[in-house]
Amino acid sequence: MNAPGQSLTIKFHGAAGTVTGSCMELTLGTHAILVDCGMFQGSRGLEALNHSAFAFEPRRIEAVLLTHAHIDHCGLLPKLAAQGYRGRIWCTGGTADLLEYMLADAGRIQESEADRRNHRRDRAGDARFVPLYTEADALSAWRLCHPIGLAQWFQPALGFRARFWNAGHILGSVSVEVEANGTRLLLSGDLGPENKAFLPDPAAPAGMDHIVCESTYGNRSREKLTIEQRRERLEREVTTALARGGNLIIPCFALERTQELLLDLARLVEADRIPNVPIFVDSPLASRATDVFAAHAGELEDVDGQNIFHHPSIRYVEDVAASIRLNSLSGAIIMAASGMCEAGRIRHHLKHNLCRRESTILFVGFQAKGSLGRVILDGAQRVRISGEDINVRAQIRLIDSYSAHADRDELHAWIGSRRPLTGSLFLSHGEAEAVEGLRTLLLKEDQGAHIIAPRIGERFELTAGAPARRLETGRLDLAQKIGEDWQNDYADFITQLKRNLERIRTEQARRQAMQEMRRVLESYNSIREVRKRNRTGGR
Ligand SMILES: [Zn+2]
Repeated sequence: MNAPGQSLTIKFHGAAGTVTGSCMELTLGTHAILVDCGMFQGSRGLEALNHSAFAFEPRRIEAVLLTHAHIDHCGLLPKLAAQGYRGRIWCTGGTADLLEYMLADAGRIQESEADRRNHRRDRAGDARFVPLYTEADALSAWRLCHPIGLAQWFQPALGFRARFWNAGHILGSVSVEVEANGTRLLLSGDLGPENKAFLPDPAAPAGMDHIVCESTYGNRSREKLTIEQRRERLEREVTTALARGGNLIIPCFALERTQELLLDLARLVEADRIPNVPIFVDSPLASRATDVFAAHAGELEDVDGQNIFHHPSIRYVEDVAASIRLNSLSGAIIMAASGMCEAGRIRHHLKHNLCRRESTILFVGFQAKGSLGRVILDGAQRVRISGEDINVRAQIRLIDSYSAHADRDELHAWIGSRRPLTGSLFLSHGEAEAVEGLRTLLLKEDQGAHIIAPRIGERFELTAGAPARRLETGRLDLAQKIGEDWQNDYADFITQLKRNLERIRTEQARRQAMQEMRRVLESYNSIREVRKRNRTGGR
């Protein structure tokens, strides 16, 4: 029964109409808990949101239920703790262990970003920029972690009970089931694909009143490969790359992708399917994350209980000097972060290998618009790294079948397995087209389904057996920030310009094309001048 005045409500503070900044507030009377407290990432407009005040009073929150250790789900926990939050952070043991390194790394990035800005501000005599949080704040937040196993009920605050289910996304990731005042709610967190290394397929109970489901790939269907088929692709790429005699450079994310590749590479070496060359993991964060995987090897699938991450071919590079020494090598496999080549040690490996014909750069993850990784993958012939122009002569390759996310069909199947659903389905954590794609697919088979695409700032009342009722409308001012901003448009424009110029065969024709574009730019400027004169003239 629903007691009057005690209804469960949900408010979306992020990851609505966008894929980052996951944070949902659940309230029951005067009690409030959060599911995730993530950082906004991507465009500058979005990242600016990290610096604005929380839309709730941090001291009033009694518990945080954390789905997993990706920064867009946990990255504002240090800010929450620094502003007075003292409750528990409920999560799995795997998430808690990863969180220590992920948050500390995020704290270091915030501090060095602030140093960089202050260097400029000091010279200009401007006020100092305060980091979003520090490494010390990050570790204080991490100490609030309270690990709990899957499927065990716990009470995060009075009137709530909750339990976690495997979400199959990354080590430790969960979906969250919450019951309050007779209403059953399931929040998917990020869902993994089928055939994911290390993790069983996502699981959760059926028969909910309301569901919040992510929709990152709600409009995309991926080719379904088994782990063995994916490994065969990697085998082909590695064999071809090493036969050229140069290095194989793999830009990759420190968490999960690095470990998936290590598993595949170690298995291929063991089976004599690729040459036994040194495999360097050149990212301190990736090394720490791998330690956590090794510590949890007993819970992981596909590792057969052995410590695959301590394979004799795998070397973990700790200090910068050792990382730089790799520049003189040839015939090695070097994995380094960041995955999109925007920062980290991958940049000096690219600097030393992009210009070598015998080297290969192999991308194994998503490259966002405007990132250096995307520019290289799109076929740029020259790139600028740390102030130096580098000619691209290396082989550029891509395997796009590694993914930590369910695609459209897998999301559809996950939602289908949760039926019957008596209330509403919220599609969160997706860009507008992705949400629309999934919504259309779901409505095709059930026209009566009550599907909501929530906005940031919207609050809904959730009761058992009835559709959700909107209590507060969303913040329209944020809708614009979520959309692509000038920076993204600019990066996209430059990428397109480069690609179009590179399609023109001869140098002479390219120069002529540039001449013509210059003329367009000049005529554009003179039109602006005329307009300006017309506006101000005569007065
Ligand atoms: Zn995630």
